[in-house]
Amino acid sequence: MRILLQFPEGLKQYALRYAKELERSGNEVFISASPTFGACDLALDEARSLKADKLVHFGHAEFHHVDFNVEYVEYKMDASLALLPRSLDLLSGFDTIGLCTTIQHVHQLGDIKSFYESRGKTVVIGKPYGFAKKPGQILGCDVGSAASIDRQVDAHVYFGGGVFHPLGALLSTTKPFIAIDPFNGMMERMDQMREQYARRSRGKVLSAMGAKSFGILVTTKNGQHNMRLAELLKARIERDGMSSAILVANTFDFESLSNMREFDAFVNTACPRIAIDDCDRLPKPLLSANELMSLLSMKTELEALERARSQAAKQ
Ligand code: SF4
Repeated sequence: MRILLQFPEGLKQYALRYAKELERSGNEVFISASPTFGACDLALDEARSLKADKLVHFGHAEFHHVDFNVEYVEYKMDASLALLPRSLDLLSGFDTIGLCTTIQHVHQLGDIKSFYESRGKTVVIGKPYGFAKKPGQILGCDVGSAASIDRQVDAHVYFGGGVFHPLGALLSTTKPFIAIDPFNGMMERMDQMREQYARRSRGKVLSAMGAKSFGILVTTKNGQHNMRLAELLKARIERDGMSSAILVANTFDFESLSNMREFDAFVNTACPRIAIDDCDRLPKPLLSANELMSLLSMKTELEALERARSQAAKQ
């Protein structure tokens, strides 16, 4: 069988080992060297051009069905639970807590729940919906497991590495939010970041107020492609007398985008986290679709106000 292997960045270090195992069982094996951001980003074009019989995607659960033979190999990681006793200080006064994590640690949620229950807490684990598949699982773009239990809990606890995943859950919830990172031994309350990100978002919209031309980003990645939305946004921008074009890439290179100097601002329709995490990588405002809509309605209101003022001045 001709097999293409695809690994997320953290697992690329094991690629050769897996390739050799599959070769020993008689397969012809290739390894995708492209950056990989999730199961939303399957190496389908590479697999098709290699005429591969199968794509083996490591580290993520299925995102959505695609018309290709894909095997998903989830990667479970047993992280240390040694920080949990210390987290009780941060959770003091919160009787009911919600738990969330990434796919790598979902199998540990049972032990984490038992720990907190043994210390008198009531623990809620949200059901998955959207792209996440397991209770308590969150993705950077699907934090339903946390958002859906926001009303029921006094605080949220995220268990896992990095800031990317807890940030998404933080921005979609309203309660105190504690992140426990077993890899760097850190625990923190992240709540203050909500206001910080809300301010950043308002700042981006204000800085795009004078924009006359918009580049709308559309990716060819299987789980992030949204041409329909891009076309709607383009029509909406042009209805208001401004100019726009749809920019297509698999992975957007921010230097190439910066070279497109005719655009005054960019609008993202790809991974929703691009307009949150990557906006500092462009010299021009990089808006989400919602931020674009706020911008357009603010412009309309301001224009109406200007018209009313000039009419009043004439009278
Ligand atoms: S956050 Fe972005 S990269 Fe991650 S799964 Fe969602 S669309 Fe893919």
